[in-house]
Amino acid sequence: MRLILLGPPGAGKGTQAERLVAKYQIPQISTGDILRAAVRDGTDLGKTAKSYMDSGGLVPDAVVIGIIEERLKEDDCANGYILDGFPRTVAQADALKNVLAGMGQAIDHVVSVEVPNEDLVERLSGRRSCKCGAMYHVTFNPPKKEGVCDKCGGELFQRADDQEETIRSRLAVYEEQTAPLIAYYEKAGLLRRIDGVGSLDEIFGRIVEAIGG
Ligand code: AMP
Repeated sequence: MRLILLGPPGAGKGTQAERLVAKYQIPQISTGDILRAAVRDGTDLGKTAKSYMDSGGLVPDAVVIGIIEERLKEDDCANGYILDGFPRTVAQADALKNVLAGMGQAIDHVVSVEVPNEDLVERLSGRRSCKCGAMYHVTFNPPKKEGVCDKCGGELFQRADDQEETIRSRLAVYEEQTAPLIAYYEKAGLLRRIDGVGSLDEIFGRIVEAIGG
């Protein structure tokens, strides 16, 4: 199954993608995670991406399209994947369609996770991350011990772009550049809308139902 999780920052795409990975045994491909790893490793890609990411803007289309093109060719993508945070612009969606057509593939479902704006700010500003990839929320999903990852014992941190001012710009960028993809995929007959408010289990159940169980 080839799935796109669409939704604003803070909609819970990453958290739900993790659960989908476990259920369907296909990889999660998060351009945000790939870019953050590149920044951490100080690669050329990371150096290019950092300033865009820190300001809450988008990394240029050509850069992320190149990343995805390479990633989709890897062996673990043979049975499908979950795209999380890509595509984010109409140009990226068009490029994805072309890349997939070249590989004889197509997207099966696009799940749009819908959450009101006021909830997003609260979710993102309380979000805490671990370098192992685990995510927490100071109120909604706190770790057992404050500031420490339950899974690996690592120290939790707040992503630079989860500071309140940057959150506002990320949401504005989403409205302007990514929200048009909802109509794009609706027109293509691929869109499944789900309510992204509720418990993690409830939301997961809605996604699974939307993509046919
Ligand atoms: P995310 O973890 O998906 O919220 O992504 C964090 C940041 O990485 C975004 O605010 C962008 O700066 C950058 N980024 C991630 N995915 C993309 C993409 N598909 N296109 C452009 N920039 C991206």
